[in-house]
Formats: sequence, structure tokens, C-alpha cells
Amino acid sequence: MKRIALFPGSFDPFTKGHEDIVLRGLRLFDEVVIGIGRNTRKERYFPLEQMTQLIQSAFRHQSAVRIITYEDLTANVARAINAKFILRGLRNTTDFEYENGISQVNRYIYEDLDTVFLITSPQLAPISSSIIRDLHRYGQQVDEFLPYTLQEPVSRAK
Ligand code: ADP
Repeated sequence: MKRIALFPGSFDPFTKGHEDIVLRGLRLFDEVVIGIGRNTRKERYFPLEQMTQLIQSAFRHQSAVRIITYEDLTANVARAINAKFILRGLRNTTDFEYENGISQVNRYIYEDLDTVFLITSPQLAPISSSIIRDLHRYGQQVDEFLPYTLQEPVSRAK
């Protein structure tokens, strides 16, 4: 049976830290499905369609990587795509505190679902989507933190 992992997140934007988790995940799983969670109550900075295309371009040579968008409980999505694993990255103890609770709830909803955590690569640990949004908002180049090139101008919410 194919070992499928769902890598869920907001990915606003998808960074080299996320890319690293996906690439390392490919050594553990047959397929990694990047799931961009849609949250109608929260406006994105980088539009969803644009981010989906950029992530697709970053993994165009990886046939074992797929990208989906969803608006549902992550555990329900995992079940729907037949993923028995959720893949997440851990940068620090703050990530751990948050992830610990979520992973317990996900297993409560779908008991066959295990979360696999990969510790961030040290050189990528400082990269966070929120810092990149702040840098970009004020005109700072951010391409070195991203596994694709942003096309300017980007239509975005300020
Ligand atoms: P969420 O909004 O669900 O926290 P994010 O898009 O911020 O989603 O992150 C998705 C996952 O990637 C999370 O598990 C997060 O801890 C992990 N992650 C974020 N940045 C990095 C990084 N630099 N290195 C490793 N993992 C990371």
C-alpha cells in the first residue's frame, strides 16, 4: 500500500523551510500531498491561486508531490486522500506546544492517523512565513528564503 503523507499548512508564503520538510518527507513516504488550508475568516497575504502555482513550479520535477487546497478539518482531508500520516516541521518548543495538542486531536478524530515531525534543518530554522510577509510588505527582497521567484508586482492585501 502506498504510504501517503499530508503536509498541511497556511503556506503564506511557502518557504525553503517548508520545501526542506517536503523533500525529507519524500525519503519516508511514497507521496507527499501539500495541503494549503483555506480559512475564509482569515485574509491571506499571498493569494491562494498564486501560491498554489508557485509551489507547483517548485516541485515540477517531483512526481511524488501533489498540491491541494482545502477547507475542512485536516483529519477529514487526510482520510479523504487516504493519507495515514500528517507531516509537520518543528522549529522550537513553541511549535511543539502547539503541534502536540493538534496531533492528539487529529488522532481522536481519525485514530489511524499519526503525525510525523521532522526537526527543522538548523540553517532554515529562523525562516517563518510571518517574518517573510513583514519583510515583503515593506519592500525587502525575500527571494533567498523561497524555493521559487516571486513575480512583481504581487497583488496582495496590505
Ligand atoms: P500553520 O499555519 O498550519 O502553522 P505554516 O504554513 O506556518 O502552517 O507551517 C506549516 C508547517 O511547516 C508547520 O508544521 C510548521 O512548523 C512548519 N514550518 C514552518 N517553517 C518551517 C521551517 N523554517 N523549518 C521547518 N518547518 C517549518
